[in-house]
Amino acid sequence: MSTDELALLGGEPVIRQPLPHEVWPPPAGEDELAELARQRNTDISIKGNAGPVGALEEDFLRFLDGRVRHAVTFNSGTSALFAAYFALGVREGAEVIGPALTYHAALSPVFALRGDVVLADIDPATRCLDPKALEASITERTRVVTAVHQWGHPCDMDAVLDIAGRHGLRVLEDCSHAHGSRYRGRPVGTFGDAAVFSLQANKAVFAGEGGILVTDDAQVHDRATLLGHYRDRSRDAVLDAQLRAFWVTGYGLKLRMSPFNAIVARHALAAFPARKQARHRCLRHFGERLATVPYLEPVHVADEADMGAWYGYKPLYRPGALGGVPRATLIEALRAEGMEVGAPSGPRLGTLPLYSSPDNPLFPGADKRPSTPAPGSHAEHVEQHALSLPTFTAWPDDVPLIDAYAEAFHKIARNRDALVRHAATRG
Ligand SMILES: *Cc1c(COP(=O)(O)O)cnc(C)c1O
Repeated sequence: MSTDELALLGGEPVIRQPLPHEVWPPPAGEDELAELARQRNTDISIKGNAGPVGALEEDFLRFLDGRVRHAVTFNSGTSALFAAYFALGVREGAEVIGPALTYHAALSPVFALRGDVVLADIDPATRCLDPKALEASITERTRVVTAVHQWGHPCDMDAVLDIAGRHGLRVLEDCSHAHGSRYRGRPVGTFGDAAVFSLQANKAVFAGEGGILVTDDAQVHDRATLLGHYRDRSRDAVLDAQLRAFWVTGYGLKLRMSPFNAIVARHALAAFPARKQARHRCLRHFGERLATVPYLEPVHVADEADMGAWYGYKPLYRPGALGGVPRATLIEALRAEGMEVGAPSGPRLGTLPLYSSPDNPLFPGADKRPSTPAPGSHAEHVEQHALSLPTFTAWPDDVPLIDAYAEAFHKIARNRDALVRHAATRG
């Protein structure tokens, strides 16, 4: 038995470091813990936007280079997206166009407002909404286009804004993967009529649970505030008198952030620039090491893009260069070498019951158009070929681990024939 034998077939694994390899979110420092403790004995429910909640909103506007004027926190990114769709006028009969492959919460709140979602294909280079597919999907009922900056890649915003402008559509950016990403030097979240950043624990800037909506449009601000913040905050912050008349009840929901989450998020935001730089160094190094793996298509970053947070490292698998071995078998072999790897969480939205069943028990009697993504789409290709790898953040401490990952990929290439034979016996 050669020492190079695949671990899957009884050899020695390349990677010795125990899992998990992606450690996120990082632990709190003493100052953050002390601030959380102080908040416990001062104010544990903030009805307006005083204290850490208002401070987080101000921090966030600065984080976006002061290019938008309003920020409103919510108890989750999903809640903030719900508020954004309401604020942008989604209601019964309105259509929202979004990407066929993304996290469902980018679009699912549309259904709660009785709107319809139309799924358009992605551009395999940016992994975001393909502008041509977007334009082809527009109907007279389309009101909003949702640009999700998928896995940190900024969408082609010049094209999206041009199409939206010509068709009178409003643009919502979902920046939940893309804190700190920039397109042509400008932060994502400052291009559309509104933008949402999830601050959930997995995200690059995290509250634990939380989300933030930003906009430069006073009407969008007022309507989003009423959606999730009845009483004090709507009374004090909603400027439009006709809308402010609803301050006692708002839209009927309370979706505000707790001060504890705001404190956590402020610390994460302050630590973000250094973490971003470390992540970029790690992933540039990783990309260089993976460039010569014949069966991987490395992650492509467009010239006009700054990847900000990155959200997972997701190269595409080329089975043709590995004797047609199925992705699941490759993942099994990589895991046997000690790697933390999987298929990215999906699936394509068109396969989910909320999107695909015109007649569903959540909305009895509603006459929904099912979204039927074309087979052979780029969304399907990326869904079926992407590999999800850790977003290494510890520079330079992670370098030996990154090198071991690259070595494991190369080892598989050297043992291609053995893996093909193994896959064949598994049928
Ligand atoms: C995480 C995420 C959301 C939802 O945010 P929560 O804070 O988990 O509610 C929405 N869209 C995208 C793209 C996300 O990654």
